[in-house]
Amino acid sequence: MPKLEIEQFACLSDNYAVLIHDPEAGVTAAIDSPDAKAILKRLEDKGWRLTHILNTHHHSDHTGGNLQLKEATGCTIIGPKEEAERIPGIDVEVSEGDVIKFGNFEVKVIDTPGHTMGHVAYWIPAAKVAFLGDTLFALGAGRIFEGNAEMMWNSMQKIMRLPRDTEIYCGHEYTQSNARFALTLEPDNLALVNRAKEVDQLRKDNKPTLPTRLDRELETNPFLRPHVTAIRAKLGMLYAPDWHVFAAIRERKNKS
Ligand code: ZN
Ligand code: FE
Repeated sequence: MPKLEIEQFACLSDNYAVLIHDPEAGVTAAIDSPDAKAILKRLEDKGWRLTHILNTHHHSDHTGGNLQLKEATGCTIIGPKEEAERIPGIDVEVSEGDVIKFGNFEVKVIDTPGHTMGHVAYWIPAAKVAFLGDTLFALGAGRIFEGNAEMMWNSMQKIMRLPRDTEIYCGHEYTQSNARFALTLEPDNLALVNRAKEVDQLRKDNKPTLPTRLDRELETNPFLRPHVTAIRAKLGMLYAPDWHVFAAIRERKNKS
């Protein structure tokens, strides 16, 4: 089994940059391009040559480094077809079901609209890892800027069906405030209580709370738990469809 090396580091105010590297094939991809300078510096430190950028969506904190990185490295830029005209320097347009060859790995494209209309996630089954951009966060979810709640809930369900041991990388470090909000909905969820403590400690030590894992999110992330009776009771929505409950959780978080 080929090995995939993953390098995550904080940049801008609360973004994460992620580099993935297949040492055998000598290819390296940046998941989004929040900060070209920081990414180039890390590439140099690692001795990696950038060959690809995989953009999840068009927001500038995810594509702002595209052109500078392309100019410096000649990398190929891959991004959502639906947002192609808003992805600087895009070379390859992808959507649901497409498979990208990355060295010895296959990267599967999953449409995850809601945060933006064309948002995509990238899943590498052989490495048990998925890059979700601003769709799901640790203990939280992306804001719904362009789509609607039903659409975003559909995207969540696609993520929920990935293998439970999938490692999950996200665009931002929002976990501590997400944890505080999650506890207001499920104060008696012991897994959540313990995780919130762990998150506080990590942040106190200035460490990242990401990546996370799908099984942990399924147990603690309220945005993946609209079916849970305790949450439904808290919202007075015992018999509503899941996506209505999801929408109510999103609205509550927006106001928190
Ligand atoms: Zn975004
Ligand atoms: Fe973002």
